[in-house]
Amino acid sequence: MSDCLFCKISAGEIPAEVIYRDDDCVAFRDIAPKAPVHLLVIPHKHIENLYDLKEEDAELMSRLLLTLPRIARQQGLDQGFRTVTNTGHGGGQEVFHLHFHLLGGGSLHSL
Ligand code: 5GP
Repeated sequence: MSDCLFCKISAGEIPAEVIYRDDDCVAFRDIAPKAPVHLLVIPHKHIENLYDLKEEDAELMSRLLLTLPRIARQQGLDQGFRTVTNTGHGGGQEVFHLHFHLLGGGSLHSL
């Protein structure tokens, strides 16, 4: 999607502190971190949010989910981490390209 911020980060058209990349996804540091480690993990494919997922995305999502703990370990988050994905305006979503917040490295309180 030509006017999507995260599509542009995925394509390298807008700079970001990328810490992981593969054929499915890219992970980069959030510009306004809420924890010592705060990454955003996004599929390259433009999917707006969980409501926008199709059956055909099942394998991509499965691979992406398996990637999250690998990235967390690479970041030294051996004690654990939190993943959050906001869906729609009602869920607090601001950037409409599916992303998983990956947070850790500090004392995260339980919800
Ligand atoms: P949302 O509220 O949509 O779940 O989260 C969007 C996240 O994207 C926010 O945590 C915000 O700080 C982050 N963000 C917004 N614009 C940029 C940007 O240009 N670069 C990076 N790295 N993060 C961004």
